[in-house]
Amino acid sequence: MTPESKKPINPNLLPLEVLVNQQAEQLSEANKELSQAKAQVKQLRDANVALKEELNHSQTLEEELSINQEALRFQQDRIHSILGSIDDVVWSMLPHVGQILYINDATQKVYGYPISAFLENLNLWQEIVYSEDKQRFDASQKELYITGEQDIEYRIVWPNGEIHWVRVRARLMKDEQGKLLRIDGLTTETTESKKIREQLYYDSLHDKLTGLPNRTLLMNRIDQAIRQYQHSQDKCFAVLFLDLDGFKVINDSMGHLVGDRFLIDITHRLSQCLGSRDTLARLGGDEFVILLENLDTANDAIVTADRIHQGLKSPILLGKEEIFVSASIGIVVDVAQNWRDRYGQAAELLRDADIAMYRAKAKGQGQSQVFDASMYAYAVKRLQLANDLQRAIERQEFLVYYQPIISLASDRIQGFEALVRWKHPEKGLVSPADFIPVAEETDTILKIDELVLRNACSQLSIWQAQFPELAPLSMNVNLSSKHLSKPGLIAILDEVLAITGLDGRTLKLEITESAVIENTKIAVEILQQVKQRNIAICLDDFGTGYSSLSYLDCFSFDTLKIDRSFIERLVGDNDKCEIIKAIINLGLDLDMNVVAEGVETQQQMDKLKALSCSSGQGYGYSPPLKSDIMTTLLEGKQV
Ligand code: C2E
Ligand code: CA
Ligand code: CA
Repeated sequence: MTPESKKPINPNLLPLEVLVNQQAEQLSEANKELSQAKAQVKQLRDANVALKEELNHSQTLEEELSINQEALRFQQDRIHSILGSIDDVVWSMLPHVGQILYINDATQKVYGYPISAFLENLNLWQEIVYSEDKQRFDASQKELYITGEQDIEYRIVWPNGEIHWVRVRARLMKDEQGKLLRIDGLTTETTESKKIREQLYYDSLHDKLTGLPNRTLLMNRIDQAIRQYQHSQDKCFAVLFLDLDGFKVINDSMGHLVGDRFLIDITHRLSQCLGSRDTLARLGGDEFVILLENLDTANDAIVTADRIHQGLKSPILLGKEEIFVSASIGIVVDVAQNWRDRYGQAAELLRDADIAMYRAKAKGQGQSQVFDASMYAYAVKRLQLANDLQRAIERQEFLVYYQPIISLASDRIQGFEALVRWKHPEKGLVSPADFIPVAEETDTILKIDELVLRNACSQLSIWQAQFPELAPLSMNVNLSSKHLSKPGLIAILDEVLAITGLDGRTLKLEITESAVIENTKIAVEILQQVKQRNIAICLDDFGTGYSSLSYLDCFSFDTLKIDRSFIERLVGDNDKCEIIKAIINLGLDLDMNVVAEGVETQQQMDKLKALSCSSGQGYGYSPPLKSDIMTTLLEGKQV
């Protein structure tokens, strides 16, 4: 077909091809729009879904929020109720200005003022501080701003004038940049606990019975005095160690209640002899210590000690009984002006005063003794001796010697006294007089006595078997007073009698007056049990102690041993014999065997016989001898 043949029939009409193309374009355009619209619809749908999810989520959040708010309110209520119910004031305030941010209900109870009073008057905190504590309070406030913390106990004055103790613990709160935010604090009423603490503190420093300072407080004061007088040229101080003589007798015979009252009375007496600056302390029992200060000379201390001896002279009235008392006083004083170099501590001073007191006691009742350095050496020696004694027991260094006791009617040996000897590896044979007193102080005596008892009894059973023709020989064994205040003796006696098979009647225990007088109640019990075993009891050294006749009866002694000091006087002069005569007669009247100790001469023997004394013992007959020598003597049957 030619192009002319393709000419449109109607020129206004587009050719079909064009039309189709146009249509196709429009269609594709519509298609595009459609897919765009579809995409939009999808987006919308997605958004819708997301929105729905978001909506759901936010609903959950809202629910959670409301739950949390509920919990928070509950917590706040709880905290408020807790803070409202506690006894301490919990508070929070702005720094410097003092404006209150929070304060709980305990305010009225602790401060005596209502919360409103603190809200209205920002200075009330300071105004109520007790005048004497103001300075301390102000200082602690400053401290708070420096260290960030405060902990102070002080007094406040309540509106009714009452004074109360409070303890404030506070803390400065800052933000991260260090800017002050507020002060948080806690105020506790401490009036009661303060009282209890003060009482406890007081009790820890005072003796309960007398209210006097106790050892702790005394030591503090002496330490203080050592420091204070260290450099003083013209003044000095002294320590007096005081121990009552014979207090144990009062306590044991009249009971502890009377003993306590007695100590209280003594405290008053002693206080009256002292000045207001002096410290009177009780260490316990009947031991008192006095610290004298501001003395001009050493003599001032001696004068005070004399005043105390004088003050104790008049008797103390306990009920209807008048009790006489005296004290032994050891004095440590600044005599040589050089002991400041020696005494660094109170304990050293007290130790030396104690040593001096023991020396005063050794001089007799109611004496004073000023300490000097030689006494210390003596005390050290005694300590050494005490240790040596302990070792001597372990090494079996003790021996028993036997001194015969002679019947004056027959002039024959009736028995022996067992006397201990210490065979010291270096010093040789040591006399009991040199070690028994130390052994008594340390209880070593209990072991020594037991050892002597066991040895003497087994020796006696040997002699009884070996010499049956001699009337049953007896053995006297010395017993320290310590045995009469402790259990144990009876068991030992039973065991010894069982082992040796001895008849109790041939064993005699020698005890001194002081042993009985010191341990009245328990001594009676122990001695009763001794007697139940038919063992005899001898009163040793009669005439040297209290020589009170009252207990001769109540202890039913079998034998009275007249002390050597009386026998020494039996030298012709008839007057001097009178007292011995009286003692012998007293013993015989009470049905006792009377033994004269320390008989040395024929003249004494004759006089004793003339006075009807039952027995004699002494160098005049025989000194104490070792068992083998005594056996030889018995074999020869010589006396
Ligand atoms: P005491 O019980 O009075 O013993 C008698 C003391 O006098 C003994 O001293 C004895 O040796 C001594 N003596 C005896 N006859 C005479 C004499 O004619 N002239 C002189 N001047 N003295 C004489 P000793 O053995 O030195 O004992 C001294 C003290 O030691 C005893 O005195 C006694 O109290 C104590 N003692 C001795 N052995 C023991 C013991 O085993 N246990 C206890 N607890 N004390 C003992
Ligand atoms: Ca004796
Ligand atoms: Ca004696």
